[in-house]
Amino acid sequence: MEIFKVIGEMGHEEVVFCNDPESGLKAIIAVHNTNLGPALGGCRMWSYDSEEDAIRDVLRLSRGMTYKNAMMNLPLGGGKSVIIGDPRKDKSEKLFRAFGKFVNSLGGKYITAEDVGTCPEDMRYVAQETSYVAGLDGKSGDPSPITAFGVFLGIKACCEWVYGNDDLKGKVVAIQGLGHVGMELVRLLTEAGAKLVVTDIYSDRIDEAKEKYGVEAVDPDKIFDVACDIFAPCALGAVINENTVDRLRCKIVAGAANNQLKDESFAERLAKRGILYAPDYVINGGGVINVSIEVSGEIYSRELVNEKLKIIPKRLKEVFEFAEKEKVTTARAADMIAERIFMKKFNQIS
Ligand code: NAD
Repeated sequence: MEIFKVIGEMGHEEVVFCNDPESGLKAIIAVHNTNLGPALGGCRMWSYDSEEDAIRDVLRLSRGMTYKNAMMNLPLGGGKSVIIGDPRKDKSEKLFRAFGKFVNSLGGKYITAEDVGTCPEDMRYVAQETSYVAGLDGKSGDPSPITAFGVFLGIKACCEWVYGNDDLKGKVVAIQGLGHVGMELVRLLTEAGAKLVVTDIYSDRIDEAKEKYGVEAVDPDKIFDVACDIFAPCALGAVINENTVDRLRCKIVAGAANNQLKDESFAERLAKRGILYAPDYVINGGGVINVSIEVSGEIYSRELVNEKLKIIPKRLKEVFEFAEKEKVTTARAADMIAERIFMKKFNQIS
């Protein structure tokens, strides 16, 4: 990989390779853009197949955080870090403290938090070496219920756009993934009167959803064929791809998962089929809003979070209007609005 060419094209400011032989730490911290403030984004721990995969992941994820934080109106830039290793085998206090020292050496340019493969307990070790860490237990806590509520508000905004009202009573929603976010979304939608069809790869998750909320369930691969109003991907990325896009029988795709589209061409394919796509980093921004309160030092309360979450339906409406006016996909429209937000700041500075 020609690293300077890649980061030049993607617009990164700084990429730090962290090596600590004593603890075995091999990590990469990527600061994408700090025009709006320090770069906030979690630390992922994963056993990558190659170092190149780890570099690509951290570059893509950190860039995504710049767009997400800008769209959520946060005074924060975008960054992310990855630790190369197996989260089930390679974790230790030494490792996370070594990582914390590297985060600290950036002097606040990058603020870390938990992500896939790391948890609040790991961040406690990081916090012994740096104050540039968020998402600790006893502070803003698990962001998942807030993310789910943001997705719920986003789904209502999509319904308003497509059906002219945001009433969810009787709407059919197909949910893929009953994890931390998906299960809470099932609760919120059921309470709002929606009819749910769900799936997960684990039968205990399905049993819990059936028992608690009386939902219908289908096999994981059948979720794409469910006739519904809204398809809500809440599992992994790249689920809208060449094998699934033409099977969807919905009017709206709106869910929590990051990087739902395999690539941008699938935004075009959804639009051609008359399906409204809620850009993932806009609708799933509730989690970062939650953690940003801890970073800003504001007094945390659910009322404050709910107030800040109003940005999600507002931004989605703006994206849909912009896409219609400029004749671009909603994914492209979101990118263009986000770029204006963080580049405008850049222009003001320079
Ligand atoms: P999670 O790991 O708790 O839940 C994911 C669920 O999806 C699991 O129950 C898993 O079994 C299921 N799953 C995996 N593959 C599946 C498949 N092929 N078909 C059906 N089910 C499948 O994760 P989460 O915290 O609920 O996050 C869900 C998604 O939302 C992820 O993509 C995550 O990156 C994104 N997200 C989460 C947050 C948050 O606050 N947790 C914030 C922003 C974005």
